[in-house]
Amino acid sequence: MELTGSSAIVTGGASGIGAAAARQLAAQGATVIVADLQADKGEALAAQISGVFAQVDVTSTEQIAAAVKAATEIAPLRAVVNSAGIGWAQRTIGRDGTLESAHSLEAFTKVIQINLIGTFDMVRQAATAMSQNDPDEDGCRGAIVNLASVAAFDGQIGQASYSASKGGIVGMTLPVARDLAAAGIRLNTVAPGLIDTPIYGEGEQAEAFKAKLGESVLFPKRLGRPDELASMVVECITNPYLNAEVIRVDGGIRMP
Ligand code: NAD
Repeated sequence: MELTGSSAIVTGGASGIGAAAARQLAAQGATVIVADLQADKGEALAAQISGVFAQVDVTSTEQIAAAVKAATEIAPLRAVVNSAGIGWAQRTIGRDGTLESAHSLEAFTKVIQINLIGTFDMVRQAATAMSQNDPDEDGCRGAIVNLASVAAFDGQIGQASYSASKGGIVGMTLPVARDLAAAGIRLNTVAPGLIDTPIYGEGEQAEAFKAKLGESVLFPKRLGRPDELASMVVECITNPYLNAEVIRVDGGIRMP
């Protein structure tokens, strides 16, 4: 799918995998709406890639609507990447990760609300806008990529909310892709392994934690780089025959 002359939205676009995807989509010719909570980082990136920053909390259906509207006013919205998410590591580093400390009902609900419901809300609203686009030669009007995680399959201690949220994203891939096919929209899910981004926090403790995590990867024995994920995200957007798939990009890691 050709992206020149199109707009694209990347939630969580200010950081990590989302920022790398925003750069790569811009390089493919899309005008990218960097939709994130973090204005400083988001505005700086948008300026670098000739995109637009939109202050979006994905738990706000109105803010998602505003971002979709802003995108369609620039150009037909043909690509959406749902990368906004919160992890588990920030809460479990230095803690025991038990149900009591890491998973109050409030914390569980928050993770589901951001990672799963926020993703679904953007899919829903973006697909409505995409369905108005002129189809390309395949009848395609747009493509959406959601970010899950290997934690959907291999959840660790303290990860109940995170794994549930990402399992939900995996679970909705096929049924939503089936719903959207009638409108000429493809939907795929990329499930990252352990990727070196600020999601693990910053500072000495986070660096030590990430180094230890790298040893658990099958090969190569390191964390993944955001660009290595973003290239798969872009492939899912641009490859006309890739649909309804959940793709692990994880160095072959299988958690014990
Ligand atoms: P990151 O922390 O670098 O980026 C996430 C971005 O999401 C941040 O810019 C943050 O401000 C934004 N965000 C958080 N809550 C938001 C909200 N309510 N509304 C809008 N934006 C919000 O993390 P990352 O590692 O790039 O993660 C991107 C996605 O990939 C996430 O969904 C994450 O769960 C998933 N993932 C990451 C890893 C990893 O190892 N880094 C592994 C598996 C899955």
